[in-house]
Amino acid sequence: MSITKSPKQLMLLVCGGLLLVALVMALCCGLNGNPAAILVNGQQVAAVQGETQAEAVLEKYLQEQSKAIGNEVFFQEDVTVSTEVASDIKTVSREEAANLLADATHLMTYGAAINVDGQPVVYMATAEEAANALEYLKKSYLPDDSTMTVLDAKFAEEVIVEPTEVQVADIKDLNEAKLFLKGEGQTAAPVNVVVVLEKTKTEEIPFETVYETDANLRYGQTETKQAGSNGSREVTIQMVQINGEESARQEISSNTLVEAVNEIVLQGGVVQTAARSSTYVTDAGMIWPTTATRISSYYGTRGGGHTGLDIDGEYGDSVWAAKAGTVVSAGYNGSYGNEVIISHGGSLQTRYAHLQSISVSAGDEVEIGQEIGKEGSTGNSTGSHLHFEVLIDGSQVNPLPYIQ
Ligand SMILES: [Zn+2]
Repeated sequence: MSITKSPKQLMLLVCGGLLLVALVMALCCGLNGNPAAILVNGQQVAAVQGETQAEAVLEKYLQEQSKAIGNEVFFQEDVTVSTEVASDIKTVSREEAANLLADATHLMTYGAAINVDGQPVVYMATAEEAANALEYLKKSYLPDDSTMTVLDAKFAEEVIVEPTEVQVADIKDLNEAKLFLKGEGQTAAPVNVVVVLEKTKTEEIPFETVYETDANLRYGQTETKQAGSNGSREVTIQMVQINGEESARQEISSNTLVEAVNEIVLQGGVVQTAARSSTYVTDAGMIWPTTATRISSYYGTRGGGHTGLDIDGEYGDSVWAAKAGTVVSAGYNGSYGNEVIISHGGSLQTRYAHLQSISVSAGDEVEIGQEIGKEGSTGNSTGSHLHFEVLIDGSQVNPLPYIQ
C-alpha cells in the first residue's frame, strides 16, 4: 500500500488540520479569552479576561446596586465593553474591575424631585415620600393651640413633586428631607409655610378715668364721684404666620359683651373764681389758709410791729397748709400760742398762730389745703383769729401778696 496520498486526500488532511487548530483556538478563547476592556465615556477604566466576563461585571454590579437601594439603577455615563485593550490597562479580577467601575461612574435611578419655583431642591426615592416630607413640613408649623382655627396652610412658593431620573447619591431619606426643608444648616429655608389662623377670645375693655373740676374741693384734693369698671368684648382675630412667626394680624370682628364704665373723679382745680378761698391758687402757689376771709389786721400795722396777717374767724374754723411742705414745728410757742411752722422748700416758710388745736406734728409732710389745726385764741391774743406769717430766710414779709 502506497503511502503516497492523492492530491484530493492531501487536501482533506490539510483542511482537517486547520479545522483542528481553529477548534483549539476557539476553545482557548472560551476558557481564558482575550482581555476585554470596560470603558466609561470612551475611557478604559479596567480590563478583565474575556468579553463575557466584562459583560458579567457590569451586569452583576448593576444588579447588586439595584437590590441595595430597592430600585432599578443605571449608569449616568456611557459604559461599554471593547476587546481592543489599551497597552497601559492591566487585566484585573472581576472584583477589582467592579471597584474601578464604581469609582468611575455615577449610579442613576428613577426617583422624585421637589421643585420649588421651578428649581429642584430635594431629591427623594419616591414621589410619595416627597409628598410626605412636604406634608410634614406644613404640619410642623400648625399651632397646637385648640383655640385657634386653621383657615389655610400653604407654601409661599410654587412647590411641585415631579418624577425624575436622579443620582442615587443625591437621594435624601425622609428625615434628611424634613430637616433640609426646615432650613437646617442653611441661611434660609428653601420652602416657606404660610398659615392663616383665626382666634376668637374674650378681652377686657379697660375703663377710662375722666376728671371733673369741682369748686367745692380744695386745689389738689380729689374725690371719686363714680367708680370705674372694666367691660369685656368678644373679638375675632385673623393672623398670618410664616414658618411659625407672626407676620400680620387683623381684628375682623368685635362684639361688646359688657360696656366699660368710666371712672369719674372730681378734683379741686385752679378755679379762678373766689379769691381768698381754698380753690384759688396764687402765682406764689399758695391758697388762702382758712375759711374766714375778713382781714382784721394787716402786716406792718401797730407801728410796724405786726409781723403777720390776722384773719378773723370763729373758734374751731379749719386752718390748712397754704402750700405743700414739711412741718418744721408744731406746738405751744409763747405769745404765738399754739403754732405750726411749715417749710415749703428753699427759704420759704409759713406760720399759723393762736390755734385752738393742732393736728400735725413736726416732720409731717403736708399737702396744700391739708388741715393742720383749728382756729383759736391761744397765746397773746384777744378773740379767735388766725395770725398768718410768710417768712423768707426766717424774716417775716407781707403775706398778703402770697395768698391773694
Ligand atoms: Zn396777728
